[in-house]
Amino acid sequence: MLAPHRIASPNYDPRPIDVRFLVLHYTAVDLARTLEIFTDPARKVAAHLVLDMDGALYECVPCWDGAAQRGWHAGVSHWHDGVAQWEALNDWSIGIEMVNFNGNIFPFTDAQYTALAAIVDHLRQHYPALRHAEAVLGHEQIAGFRGKADPGWQFDWPRFFAMCYPNQPAPPRQPVCPLTVRDALTRLAEVAPTAGIAANAFWERVSLLTEAAAGIAAQGDRTRLPT
Ligand SMILES: [Zn+2]
Repeated sequence: MLAPHRIASPNYDPRPIDVRFLVLHYTAVDLARTLEIFTDPARKVAAHLVLDMDGALYECVPCWDGAAQRGWHAGVSHWHDGVAQWEALNDWSIGIEMVNFNGNIFPFTDAQYTALAAIVDHLRQHYPALRHAEAVLGHEQIAGFRGKADPGWQFDWPRFFAMCYPNQPAPPRQPVCPLTVRDALTRLAEVAPTAGIAANAFWERVSLLTEAAAGIAAQGDRTRLPT
């Protein structure tokens, strides 16, 4: 049975939440740097779970035992599920960060998909809302309006839903990063560092750039809506 390594993070509110959603992210940095950030009180950010490329799982904010606390992973966010409007998804969701320098460029690993299936299988036993495929969202679905672009183009949503919710229709999950930006980032990746401190510093900044570009595109879409 998959069991997470426990990492003590100060970046959450120690009070239980009513879990209605699962939110997927990519880290933009490697595992070591992710855990460094999530345990740094100055950064004020942490997801409940961190899933490394080899399938190893880390719990930074309590959720695994069935009493999820309020993690700081979603930020300003909203979602309409067809029935109700949800705001501030930190109040309603468990967050999973998947280690990937940029999910709009780099594929997620087989080990990550396999682990996700086991994670969802575990969590749905504690949180009944997660028995429905509609409960799983990307950060970009709930905060794309301000440029959040994770998990990104490379996350294979059909594969995820087929593995985790084989008897349910797969809800649409459209990436927000503009194709022109994605393609430019892909060219950038050809000459970028792929390991070590330089890679973390580089890709953390590329993530900011990705969000800025996606945010501008989202604003543009909004201003065009009335026509
Ligand atoms: Zn995110």
